[in-house]
Amino acid sequence: MSGGIEDRIEAWEGEAVVTRFDRVTSTWIFIAIHNTKLGSAVGGTRMRTYAEPAAGLTDAMRLAAGMTAKWAVIGLPYGGGKAVLAVPEPLSGEARAGLLRSYGQLLESLKGAFQTGVDLGTTPEDMQVIAGETRYVHGVDPVTGATQDPGPFTARGVVRGIEAALAASFGSDDIDGRSVVIQGVGDVGHPLARMLADVGARVSVSDIDGDRARRVAAEVGGELVEPAAVFSTPCDVFAPCAVTGVLNRETIPQLACRVVAGSANAQLGEPDDADRLHERNILYAPDYVVNAGGATAFGLMSTGVDDVEELNARVDDIRPTLEAIFAEAGERDESPFAASRRRVQALLAQG
Ligand code: NAD
Repeated sequence: MSGGIEDRIEAWEGEAVVTRFDRVTSTWIFIAIHNTKLGSAVGGTRMRTYAEPAAGLTDAMRLAAGMTAKWAVIGLPYGGGKAVLAVPEPLSGEARAGLLRSYGQLLESLKGAFQTGVDLGTTPEDMQVIAGETRYVHGVDPVTGATQDPGPFTARGVVRGIEAALAASFGSDDIDGRSVVIQGVGDVGHPLARMLADVGARVSVSDIDGDRARRVAAEVGGELVEPAAVFSTPCDVFAPCAVTGVLNRETIPQLACRVVAGSANAQLGEPDDADRLHERNILYAPDYVVNAGGATAFGLMSTGVDDVEELNARVDDIRPTLEAIFAEAGERDESPFAASRRRVQALLAQG
């Protein structure tokens, strides 16, 4: 999307955008509230640098729409929202803490219209800093201040999604011996690599942080893939677990996999990319379904559920949800993205 901030907001179908410029760190803060039909907006906070601040707004708007779909599919009473802290450069120390405190005060002033948790570029420790200013944070115990990490829950859901996709694509859900290339081995990609290796997958990892990639590859006995080769490396499953928009006109022709199932949000460059994958006979697990494990667990925790067995069982529901989506898409010879979009529209229409 091109154009300035006003054009982008005008063209968006969401409900509201809250904007603040943090003068101390020259950071643009965007909170995009997409759809609150099912409840008040809940979504992660992303911190990264963008070529221009407006690109951060676009990211927030796109990700907020994905959250609307995710909450609807999971069946928890929340609306779609997402925040972006578009920093001019990576921040650490007091500059980072000061920005997070100022952002926490902004959240508190919104009185729960938007509640947040971690996302790309933010950590559970960042949420602790924000929680010093506001109660509208998921993943921090309000009494002890202890943090919880959504990554392993999200990774667990991705494993269930990979099983569903393998069953639909190969006729067997067995991960043992399957090759998986993971792009991005951070909060989700790292536990995902471990979980897959534990059940016998041949895991290859790629990360723009070379040290991190090497560490994880050594830990799971996996291969290293250079970031530039991540799309074209032959594998059964490609698991994007880093940034948005990685499935697009340029990358889809390069893919040498049968399944795409990973945690990254807003993986498609544009909706038509789902059809491009379908035409190439690559089974795409819609991102907001396969990556819903952390949201499911944290959403339930915020309603008082703390039994890990119960949380895991609800995360595991991602598998039957995806099986139903793959089956419907198969019957209609369409992309699973089309089938899941229909499902979301029906759920939102029911309210
Ligand atoms: P993270 O910041 O902990 O890890 C991301 C990793 O990707 C980092 O190691 C980073 O170096 C790497 N990376 C960044 N750009 C890359 C690129 N172009 N190529 C290869 N590697 C790259 O983030 P995370 O929490 O693991 O989230 C990863 C993705 O999953 C994001 O899109 C996020 O929105 C999504 N997601 C995360 C969760 C969660 O529970 N954390 C839940 C749902 C969705």
